[in-house]
Amino acid sequence: MRNLGRVLLVLFTLFTTLGFKSVEAKGIKCGTYLPTIKVMLVDSANGTTNRIGRSPRYKIKFAIDIGHNTPHDTGARGIRSEDELTREVGKRVIRKLRALGYAVVSTLPSTSKSQIDSFKQRVDIANKNKVDYFVSIHFNCGGGQGSEVFYYSSAGKRLAKNVVNQLAALGYRNRGVRCDKQHYVLKHTKAKAILIECAFVDSESDMARYNADRMAQAIVNGLIQA
Ligand SMILES: [Zn+2]
Repeated sequence: MRNLGRVLLVLFTLFTTLGFKSVEAKGIKCGTYLPTIKVMLVDSANGTTNRIGRSPRYKIKFAIDIGHNTPHDTGARGIRSEDELTREVGKRVIRKLRALGYAVVSTLPSTSKSQIDSFKQRVDIANKNKVDYFVSIHFNCGGGQGSEVFYYSSAGKRLAKNVVNQLAALGYRNRGVRCDKQHYVLKHTKAKAILIECAFVDSESDMARYNADRMAQAIVNGLIQA
């Protein structure tokens, strides 16, 4: 009887492990897979739900909006081009968030008939995908320097602060956060929405400091504090 008990225990453990795998394998890549199972098995031993060990980050979906870069919606030009920099930074933000296990939707349209059409397509993609956060990436121009982040609702204010503080930690002047109720993409996106003005493309000091990878990492660090 004792041996039968052992066999049953082994079978039960095997079954449970396989059972967890089938639950977790749906949405999680191999790299993050084993530690999650470990936590879940501990919970299982306490008789609690098998979902408690799942990190909340796997449920969070970001829309990353690479600003401009479509016909009728082109960015500012200074020492560098805003289109080029938003692409450099935006693509890295998308890659880094995905590597951390977050779901990410890119909202950059392949083409557009007008500026409003460009904005509308971006918003539609975000709303259709029911994202949790909409993050529009831009660069500033006009004689200033430093980073600032716009938000639409108070729900997005904390996220905006997190991001601007991370950018300021790279040495950019901290211009703070500001509420913007007018910008089309902030106004019409259902998710918590922010628009990041990373730095000034016409500022010599900002462009000397600019590094796409460090900037993308700072933005990601701010976003994942959400
Ligand atoms: Zn812009």
